[in-house]
Amino acid sequence: MRFTVISPEIYTYGAMLIAGILKDAGYDVTLSKDLKAKKGEIVMLSLYSTHHLMSDEMKSFVREQKSLGNTCIAGGPVSAYPEIVLGELDVDAVAVGEGEETVLKIAEYGLSKEIPGLAFRKDGGGVVMTSSAPPADINRPMPLIPPDISQQDIRGASAYIETHRGCIGACTFCQVPRFFGREIRSRELNDIIREVKEFKKMGATRLSVSGGTGSLYQYKDGKFDEDAFVKLLAALAAEMGPKNVSAPDIRVDCITDTILEAIKKYTIGWLFFGFESGSDRILRLMGKGATAEQASEAVAMCRKHGLKVAGCFIVGYPTETKEEYEMTKEFITEHWLDDVFISIAEPIPETPLAKLVLDTPKEKNPTYMPHTGEYKSLKLTESEARSFDLQMHADMYKPALHVVTDEVFNAYLQSARKDGADVRAVTELLFKYKYKYK
Ligand code: SF4
Repeated sequence: MRFTVISPEIYTYGAMLIAGILKDAGYDVTLSKDLKAKKGEIVMLSLYSTHHLMSDEMKSFVREQKSLGNTCIAGGPVSAYPEIVLGELDVDAVAVGEGEETVLKIAEYGLSKEIPGLAFRKDGGGVVMTSSAPPADINRPMPLIPPDISQQDIRGASAYIETHRGCIGACTFCQVPRFFGREIRSRELNDIIREVKEFKKMGATRLSVSGGTGSLYQYKDGKFDEDAFVKLLAALAAEMGPKNVSAPDIRVDCITDTILEAIKKYTIGWLFFGFESGSDRILRLMGKGATAEQASEAVAMCRKHGLKVAGCFIVGYPTETKEEYEMTKEFITEHWLDDVFISIAEPIPETPLAKLVLDTPKEKNPTYMPHTGEYKSLKLTESEARSFDLQMHADMYKPALHVVTDEVFNAYLQSARKDGADVRAVTELLFKYKYKYK
C-alpha cells in the first residue's frame, strides 16, 4: 500500500510525524508540500488552516484524486470540524484529532467504519462519526524528515519540534487546548534529542521548541519543572549550538528567572509573547488568564535578563471599542518591543471565538464595520484600519530604526486588506455551517 502525505506549503511537524509512523510500519510513503500524488495511492491531507478548505486549488486536487480512484483522507487541525471539511472537500473521510493510531489502522484494514477516530459523509446528508480514538502515545517513531528541510524557514527555524502536547491555557481563539487537551503530555528527553540529531543530519539549521508554551515541558500537577526545561534547552544547544535553537512561544505567566536564564544561555535569546491586547476587558473576553500589568512585568523580567521580546497582538475582537484599541497602542508605545506581529481576530471553527462571532451581529463586528476615522479614504473595515494603523504605530516604537517608505506603507495596507478578506472568508464559512452550532 502506498501513501502520499501532503502538507501544503510547509512541512509541518504533524505531517512529518504521520509520514514517519507509516514509514516505520513498513509502508511506502512520500511526503510532499505540493499537491501531487500518483494513481493507486492513499492521499493523506494534513491541513492546518481553515483556508485550505476554501482553496480552489485544493478542491480541484481532491476531485482529481477521486477521478484517479485514489482514496483521500483529511486530517490535522481542521479535523476538529469534520462537518465543514466534508462539506467543502470531496474527501472520503476525516481522521479526527490526533491521527497517529487512526492512520495505522487505515493502513492495516482499509478505510472502514469500524475504525475509531473517523468521520464520514452519511447517505442522505450529514456526517457520521465512529467512536473516538484514544489520545496518541507521546513516545513514537521518528518523523519522516524531507531531504530539503534545510530550505524551510518558519519564523527563522527549519522546523518546530514537539516536546510536549497540550496547553494549560484556554484562549478563546486558539485550537491547541481543544485539539491536544489541557493536560500536558511530555516526551522523554532522550527521544527528543535522538530526533534533533536526525533533523541535524538531514540538514536542519535551526530548530525551535513548539507546544504552545515551551516552559510547560514536564509540567505536572499544577507545577512547572524548571530543571526539566533547563535540561531540554541545554541538550538542544549541545547538539545544534545555542545560536541555532529558539524557544519562542511562551505565556506571560509561565516564566521565572530560571526559565529566562536558560533561554538566554541556550537559545538565540528571543521570546514571543501573545500579548494580544492592552485592554483587560478584551484579555478577559479572550480567556487569556493574564492582565496587561502581568504582560508588562513579563517584558521587564525579560529585559533584566537581556532578552529580546516580540509580541503578537489581535485587533478587531468582537466588541473591541476604539478606546480599548487605543490601550493596545499604548502598550506598544510603553514597551518598545523588538518585533510586533498583528493579526485580525480569526474565528477558527469550534473555538469559543467562533461562537461569539456567530452571536455578534455583523454590524457590531469590527471585521465588517466600515472604518469611518482617519483612514476613511482607504475604504477599509474597522479591523483592517486597526491592523494597518497598529503596524505603522509599532514601527515607530521599535528600538531599531524603521522608516515607513511608500513601499512599506503599501505592504502594510495590503497585508491588512488581505488579513481582513481572509477573516471574512472564514466568518462566512462559519455562517454557512451555522446550523451545526445551534
Ligand atoms: S497560551 Fe497559547 S497555546 Fe495556550 S491556549 Fe493560549 S494561545 Fe493557545
